[in-house]
Amino acid sequence: MNYFPVFFNLTGQKVLIVGGGEVALRKISMLERTGALLNVVAPEIAPEIMQRAAQGTLKLAIREFVAADLDDARLVIVATSRVALNRWIAKLSELRNIPVNVVDDREASRFIVPAIIDRDPVLVAVSTGGASPVLARRLRERLEALVPRRIGEFAAWLSELRSSTRRQLRDAHQRRRFFEAVVDGPAARRFIEGDRQGAQRLAQRLLATTSTAPRASGEVTLVGAGPGDPELLTLKALRALQDADVILHDRLVPAVILDLARRDAERICVGKAAGNIGSSQTAINSLLIEHARQGKRVVRLKGGDPFIFGRGGEELQALAAAQIDFSVVPGITAAAGCTAYAGIPLTHRDYAQTVSFVTGHAQAEEKQPDWRALAKPDVTAVFYMGLARLEHIIAKLLEHGAEASRPAGIIAQGTTPDQRVVTATLATLRDAAAAANLESPALLVVGKVVELHSTLAWFNVAAGADVSLSA
Ligand code: SAH
Repeated sequence: MNYFPVFFNLTGQKVLIVGGGEVALRKISMLERTGALLNVVAPEIAPEIMQRAAQGTLKLAIREFVAADLDDARLVIVATSRVALNRWIAKLSELRNIPVNVVDDREASRFIVPAIIDRDPVLVAVSTGGASPVLARRLRERLEALVPRRIGEFAAWLSELRSSTRRQLRDAHQRRRFFEAVVDGPAARRFIEGDRQGAQRLAQRLLATTSTAPRASGEVTLVGAGPGDPELLTLKALRALQDADVILHDRLVPAVILDLARRDAERICVGKAAGNIGSSQTAINSLLIEHARQGKRVVRLKGGDPFIFGRGGEELQALAAAQIDFSVVPGITAAAGCTAYAGIPLTHRDYAQTVSFVTGHAQAEEKQPDWRALAKPDVTAVFYMGLARLEHIIAKLLEHGAEASRPAGIIAQGTTPDQRVVTATLATLRDAAAAANLESPALLVVGKVVELHSTLAWFNVAAGADVSLSA
């Protein structure tokens, strides 16, 4: 560690800023929020700084720096455009043991200023040790997206809760358990989403039970993991993964996504591949209920979107019947993700006015899709789980009036580095697919929009993984 991170309380302390230009102004704007007594010295002063002096928010000396300016200073920021002068001031500060920062001159600086996220009272600071301010800013932007907007208000609320519950929660252990339950549980989520009253209610309820109940009650979050590319996760999905104690996931969810969860979270595969635990729906439902009843934060992680051919609805019905709290984080469904990565727009003003998502799974006669509607020329039909039944689906479409020349394609392992796209027509797709030896999961897309793949393909094109067979 080249630098030791600290948060410096500057309230009422003298901070000297040498320099009166743009750079000094930026530092002043940040220091203003700390309650420090700002002293600015420079022969030339930018109008914005003059204005502040007129308003009395800082003290100004319009002249060259003199050594006595350092008297009583707690911190010095040097921001003139003259390198030699900057270094001399830095040296004087060092002799007096006053921490000094020379803007953009790491060597002359005793301390450096991090990139920050200021959600008062929450403060996140990022530093690359001066190696790359651009990288520090990028990191900060990423963190900014991860830290909830209302985190500052949330922290302030927790602080209030701390005083108001002091009397009821005398035992330190109890107190910690209570605050963990608030911070990790639904109360926090409510607050972050803007429902302060709801959060307060939940906290009160928790408070009432903390002394008697061994644990807070658990909950289940049904999360869509998207079609494969981990960057297609939503921010909410990522947060849920990082909060989870237990993750029950399908086989479709790739390892790179599971790796985003907390290291010590328990991961249970309930997919339908050989060699893992019983995957009957009833078994999954009981696992969800069992873990939630143990007070855990359970994530039920599914490929794509949990409500699209994912039995998410059925699982929630089971949770509702067992009176377990739940919430849902939608995901990018395969039809949206894979076609986007294949350059096949699902609708297009010239080619498709309707889009249908259909399951290709073998089904009872009365649950057959409306083949006549799917065979219509201006419809895009997307078949999930359709590869095994490809022949059957093609036959049904032809039988209900689709033209043999109708464009059709298969996207296999969509949005992953192994994505492959085969495009052909209803007449030729079967042979093209067989020749391409595609691996699951795969999505079948039927409709004129498939033709656009030849001009709009953009992902993985250099890999030469796509096959086109027209006529
Ligand atoms: N809930 C999921 C679908 C589950 S059904 C969703 O919303 O996407 C599983 C089927 O989805 C697979 O048989 C396949 O047809 C499709 N699928 C899922 N991920 C896919 C991918 N990366 N590439 C191609 N098809 C995919």
